[in-house]
Amino acid sequence: MVGGNAIRGSRVGAGPMGEAERGDSAPRRKVTYYCEHGHESSPSFAAEAVIPDSWDCIRCGLPASQDREHPPAAPRTEPYKTHLAYVKERRSDEDGAAILEEALQALRKRRSL
Ligand SMILES: [Zn+2]
Repeated sequence: MVGGNAIRGSRVGAGPMGEAERGDSAPRRKVTYYCEHGHESSPSFAAEAVIPDSWDCIRCGLPASQDREHPPAAPRTEPYKTHLAYVKERRSDEDGAAILEEALQALRKRRSL
Protein backbone atom coordinates (compact mmCIF):
# COMPACT_ATOMS: atom_id res chain seq x y z
CA MET A 1 0.00 0.00 0.00
CA VAL A 2 2.81 2.39 0.89
CA GLY A 3 4.42 1.92 -2.50
CA GLY A 4 1.13 2.63 -4.28
CA ASN A 5 0.66 5.90 -2.40
CA ALA A 6 4.15 7.03 -3.30
CA ILE A 7 3.46 6.50 -6.98
CA ARG A 8 0.14 8.34 -6.76
CA GLY A 9 1.83 11.20 -4.91
CA SER A 10 4.15 11.74 -7.86
CA ARG A 11 1.20 12.45 -10.12
CA VAL A 12 0.01 15.65 -8.47
CA GLY A 13 -1.64 17.83 -11.06
CA ALA A 14 -3.77 15.10 -12.59
CA GLY A 15 -6.80 14.91 -10.34
CA PRO A 16 -9.71 12.55 -11.04
CA MET A 17 -11.66 15.44 -12.59
CA GLY A 18 -8.70 16.56 -14.65
CA GLU A 19 -8.21 19.54 -12.37
CA ALA A 20 -4.84 20.76 -11.28
CA GLU A 21 -4.47 20.32 -7.56
CA ARG A 22 -1.54 22.70 -7.10
CA GLY A 23 -0.66 21.29 -3.70
CA ASP A 24 -4.09 22.02 -2.23
CA SER A 25 -4.72 18.85 -0.26
CA ALA A 26 -8.46 19.47 0.05
CA PRO A 27 -10.17 19.76 -3.31
CA ARG A 28 -12.99 22.29 -3.18
CA ARG A 29 -15.92 23.06 -5.37
CA LYS A 30 -17.63 26.35 -5.88
CA VAL A 31 -21.40 26.60 -5.60
CA THR A 32 -23.26 29.69 -6.75
CA TYR A 33 -26.30 30.93 -4.88
CA TYR A 34 -28.72 33.64 -5.98
CA CYS A 35 -30.69 35.85 -3.61
CA GLU A 36 -33.93 37.69 -4.23
CA HIS A 37 -31.95 40.76 -5.31
CA GLY A 38 -30.06 38.84 -7.97
CA HIS A 39 -26.77 38.90 -6.09
CA GLU A 40 -24.47 35.98 -6.62
CA SER A 41 -22.64 34.31 -3.76
CA SER A 42 -20.10 31.64 -4.62
CA PRO A 43 -18.82 29.95 -1.50
CA SER A 44 -16.60 26.94 -2.04
CA PHE A 45 -17.04 23.70 -0.19
CA ALA A 46 -14.85 20.72 0.46
CA ALA A 47 -15.53 18.14 -2.21
CA GLU A 48 -16.97 15.70 0.32
CA ALA A 49 -19.05 18.33 2.15
CA VAL A 50 -22.83 18.33 2.00
CA ILE A 51 -23.90 21.34 -0.08
CA PRO A 52 -26.60 23.31 1.79
CA ASP A 53 -29.84 24.18 0.00
CA SER A 54 -29.55 27.82 0.94
CA TRP A 55 -26.82 30.28 1.73
CA ASP A 56 -26.86 33.78 3.16
CA CYS A 57 -26.12 36.33 0.45
CA ILE A 58 -22.67 37.81 0.96
CA ARG A 59 -23.92 41.23 -0.16
CA CYS A 60 -27.29 41.73 1.52
CA GLY A 61 -27.58 38.80 3.93
CA LEU A 62 -30.82 37.47 2.47
CA PRO A 63 -31.16 33.73 2.06
CA ALA A 64 -30.04 32.61 -1.39
CA SER A 65 -30.55 29.39 -3.30
CA GLN A 66 -28.98 27.66 -6.26
CA ASP A 67 -32.17 28.19 -8.24
CA ARG A 68 -31.67 31.53 -9.94
CA GLU A 69 -35.29 31.74 -11.11
CA HIS A 70 -36.75 30.99 -7.70
CA PRO A 71 -34.67 32.57 -4.94
CA PRO A 72 -36.04 32.14 -1.43
CA ALA A 73 -38.32 34.91 -0.24
CA ALA A 74 -36.89 37.41 2.17
CA PRO A 75 -37.72 36.54 5.77
CA ARG A 76 -40.04 38.88 7.63
CA THR A 77 -37.29 39.55 10.13
CA GLU A 78 -35.38 41.71 7.65
CA PRO A 79 -35.19 45.07 9.52
CA TYR A 80 -35.86 47.34 6.54
CA LYS A 81 -38.90 45.47 5.28
CA THR A 82 -40.32 45.04 8.73
CA HIS A 83 -40.06 48.77 9.26
CA LEU A 84 -41.65 49.53 5.91
CA ALA A 85 -44.51 47.12 6.59
CA TYR A 86 -45.00 48.78 9.94
CA VAL A 87 -45.12 52.20 8.32
CA LYS A 88 -47.56 51.00 5.67
CA GLU A 89 -49.91 49.69 8.30
CA ARG A 90 -50.27 53.13 9.76
CA ARG A 91 -50.27 55.31 6.67
CA SER A 92 -51.87 55.51 3.26
CA ASP A 93 -50.12 54.02 0.26
CA GLU A 94 -49.22 57.51 -0.92
CA ASP A 95 -47.43 58.32 2.29
CA GLY A 96 -45.75 54.93 2.13
CA ALA A 97 -44.48 55.64 -1.38
CA ALA A 98 -43.17 59.04 -0.33
CA ILE A 99 -41.37 57.52 2.63
CA LEU A 100 -39.91 54.81 0.41
CA GLU A 101 -38.66 57.43 -2.06
CA GLU A 102 -37.16 59.40 0.79
CA ALA A 103 -35.43 56.32 2.11
CA LEU A 104 -34.06 55.48 -1.33
CA GLN A 105 -32.69 58.98 -1.76
CA ALA A 106 -31.02 58.83 1.64
CA LEU A 107 -29.54 55.49 0.65
CA ARG A 108 -28.19 56.86 -2.65
CA LYS A 109 -26.73 59.87 -0.88
CA ARG A 110 -24.95 57.62 1.59
CA ARG A 111 -23.56 55.47 -1.21
CA SER A 112 -22.23 58.44 -3.19
CA LEU A 113 -20.20 59.73 -0.24
ZN1 LIG B 1 -28.25 39.67 -2.00
